[in-house]
Amino acid sequence: MRRPIIAGNWKMYKTIQDAVDIAVALKRKFYTFSEADIIIGPPFTALAKVHDVIIDSSIMLAAQDMYWEAEGAFTGEISPMMLKDAGCRYVIIGHSERRHIFGETDEEVNKKVRAVLKHGMVPIICVGEKLDERDNGMMFEVLEKQLSRGLKDMAAEDVMRIVIAYEPVWAIGTGRTATPQQAQEAHEFIRNYIERLYGKETASKIRIQYGGSVKPGNIAQLMAQEDIDGALVGGASLDVNSFVEIINNAVL
Ligand code: PEP
Repeated sequence: MRRPIIAGNWKMYKTIQDAVDIAVALKRKFYTFSEADIIIGPPFTALAKVHDVIIDSSIMLAAQDMYWEAEGAFTGEISPMMLKDAGCRYVIIGHSERRHIFGETDEEVNKKVRAVLKHGMVPIICVGEKLDERDNGMMFEVLEKQLSRGLKDMAAEDVMRIVIAYEPVWAIGTGRTATPQQAQEAHEFIRNYIERLYGKETASKIRIQYGGSVKPGNIAQLMAQEDIDGALVGGASLDVNSFVEIINNAVL
């Protein structure tokens, strides 16, 4: 049985004070919560302060990106050591906004994923096809390419620890959610791919989140699908009430 995992990606939103206020409100609701892993991903500037708030609760901290080197002359970048120091347990890697706005490649994703694991954190690796790729029947090919390159040279015991987020690009921030059946089809493909490469045990343990316009009203149907283990939530995680409702509805 895989433990549900609901993560909020706050993207480039929220001042430090706003982020702290949300964390305080979430902590009141989920101080102890045994039914799912709850993760919040504030912007870098707010990580340490948010960590101070949630440190003694069941809520865990994620960063939204990371460079792969531990330290050095890499102006503007942030390292795994720094994120660990700020209290992060998870790091989102290869989000579609990073891939498509900032040109991040699968090879860079692979370096980042390895560095996250090396420093004892858990990568949430985002994969997903664009609308034209889906329309041209290339969805499975795109997913397989992102997975094979992103997970290159990794052992089954490492792959078992990671989280994969299936996020169809056409559903992110658009209000257009994949139907539960469309999402399940992609998740099943991903799990079968993991089984083919890393064996049955790894495939049965790895958690696969769905992301793309998840809301309080659609999370339960998504979670009812066999291969959907949680959600990576963008817009709806910026509002305390909707994120709380999503978490509660996810574990109904
Ligand atoms: C995301 O940012 O990962 C995401 C899925 O965004 P949204 O929920 O707003 O579509």
